[in-house]
Amino acid sequence: MATPRLEIDLIKIEDNARKLIGRLARRGIVVTGVTKAALGSPEIAGAFLRAGAERLGDSRIENIETMRHAGMRGAMTLIRSPIPSQTAQVVRCADASFNTELDIIAMLSDDARKARRTHEVIIMVELGDLREGVMPGDLESFVRQAIVLPNISLKGIGANLGCQNGVCPDTENMAELSRLATAIERTFDLKLDTISGGNSSNLHWALGDNVAGKINDLRLGEAILLGRDPLWRQPIKGLHTDAVSLVAEVIEAKTKPSKPWGEFASATFEELSPITDKGPMSRVILAIGHQDTDPKGLVPPEGMEIIGAGSDHLVLDSGRHRLSIGAEVKIQVDYSALLRAMTSPFVAKNWRPRINQEHSTSRFQTTEFNPVGVAVESVSHAY
Ligand SMILES: *Cc1c(COP(=O)(O)O)cnc(C)c1O
Repeated sequence: MATPRLEIDLIKIEDNARKLIGRLARRGIVVTGVTKAALGSPEIAGAFLRAGAERLGDSRIENIETMRHAGMRGAMTLIRSPIPSQTAQVVRCADASFNTELDIIAMLSDDARKARRTHEVIIMVELGDLREGVMPGDLESFVRQAIVLPNISLKGIGANLGCQNGVCPDTENMAELSRLATAIERTFDLKLDTISGGNSSNLHWALGDNVAGKINDLRLGEAILLGRDPLWRQPIKGLHTDAVSLVAEVIEAKTKPSKPWGEFASATFEELSPITDKGPMSRVILAIGHQDTDPKGLVPPEGMEIIGAGSDHLVLDSGRHRLSIGAEVKIQVDYSALLRAMTSPFVAKNWRPRINQEHSTSRFQTTEFNPVGVAVESVSHAY
């Protein structure tokens, strides 16, 4: 089988999704299944929907379009502010989008009017992580100007924490989001459908003993795919942490010194572990690198250590393991490594159970993955 490849167990992913959706349902929270780490793969989207996800979310309109073309049913939300040059496509493909700029909502309004559609907007509020969001003090005036725009319907408000500066979702900032929602509903005499509290880093808060307040939606990708809480990197109880793994192949295996020699200048990529002179060691090269994944986010099997990586080589200290040429090594991925591997045309995708290509609604192939915008020909013959 081709390497490098991602092995993606859809049964485990669906099981993770079902467990989280069930636990959150008890707190009155529904789940938007976020597909961006999987390039909007209809396989993953299907697993989310079967598990009971309320809707799908992706940050790229191209991915939403892919899922639409694959015939995915279910409402779809663009979870990044629309790119101004793409607003017509957003109105055409997505039911709703996250927004923080009135100029962009005005463009959506124009395009929605032309397309004779209504586009739903969720306004993102800044709660301290300092990525996207309207400042809380500006929310009322923002809403006042947004709701008068034709063909725009205010679906709700939301917030995103944990991503930019690692600010934790907690009782205080989640209560603030609830208060803001109540204030908007009172001031404008309307009902907000969705109060979206955040992403996978909200799970610690949401599954704890905290009051959910008006928060009724979380957007989850990472926690479902990896079974871990991104804030503390801990496995979530009862979830599979091995639903996705990366397999690479040995192209060199030699006993070599552990200390490089010669005159030193700067290396292209930073070393992943400090150089110490341990004498001769088992050094193994796997055919995978920065072009395929994020080497910093890889965890090799027990007893092996990643020493360094270049664009195409991953150097391992294989310890007491004797690996032969052509041996396959299974590596665990973090979110960053997963994201990059999913996006690399060099990494094959092996779905389990195997998807019957003839009957699959997907334009993604079973093994040789075809990312958006890359011609199939160039993918399968380039190397
Ligand atoms: C990526 C993203 C999510 C999902 O994050 P996960 O960590 O994968 O759960 C949710 N909301 C927004 C705005 C995002 O950009």
